[in-house]
Amino acid sequence: MNVALLGKLLWDFVENPTKPWVRLLSQKYLNGQSILCATKQRGSSQVWLSIVKAMGKLREGFQPCLADGQSSMWFDDWMGVGALGRLVQFVHISDLDRNVASFWEQGRWKFDSLSMVLPSEIATRVQQVQVPLVQSGRDTFAWIGEASGCYIVSSRVKFLEYASHSTPNAIWRRVWKLEVLVKISFFLWQGLHGALPTNHARYRRHLAPSSSCARCSYSLESIIHSLRDCPHSRQVWFDSALMSQISFAEMECVA
Ligand SMILES: [Zn+2]
Repeated sequence: MNVALLGKLLWDFVENPTKPWVRLLSQKYLNGQSILCATKQRGSSQVWLSIVKAMGKLREGFQPCLADGQSSMWFDDWMGVGALGRLVQFVHISDLDRNVASFWEQGRWKFDSLSMVLPSEIATRVQQVQVPLVQSGRDTFAWIGEASGCYIVSSRVKFLEYASHSTPNAIWRRVWKLEVLVKISFFLWQGLHGALPTNHARYRRHLAPSSSCARCSYSLESIIHSLRDCPHSRQVWFDSALMSQISFAEMECVA
């Protein structure tokens, strides 16, 4: 499994929550919780299942990283364990609108002003989250690595390095190192997993009336056909500067 590439996608949930595809998956699967709470759901897509699996391997390396403390104390998943409002029996009406920062006093957590009793296990857990010295920016999560116990300055870079090193196969590393948009890496990753929706794949799942190529009518639109051997794709290769690097010695079709 390519944890490295998935790690890059995971990090988008942390760092770029407004990206359209992140918002789409968040709305569909997270129900207001953070990516740290990603779980399998009935009918989950392959992409989501892969993300859940990767998060299972990397979850322990993430910690809350608070900044302006504007997250809702009860309704935002700022701790990565789900919204705290779901973990307490009730939230007193006078405490409903309180944000995380309203519980900070001189760099420490203070719960005296609550009109309710915070369960001790939750209070203890919250106390372990560091109150930020500088209160600016968005509350998020940081990567501290496995049990290192201290924050790494360039959280994103260290996280991606870690995810990359956990990748056993050289081909994944090559995809990983490409200086291209994530969606291109993801497309390659899907191709290498045989997970592109070609007509052959769709036909087998009863999603297409035929497995033939819609462009050249060859009987089997496999991944290698659609990307390399289809005459239309081949023309793109012939017209590109990459032609010398492609082998057409073993063609699936000679249409
Ligand atoms: Zn074709």
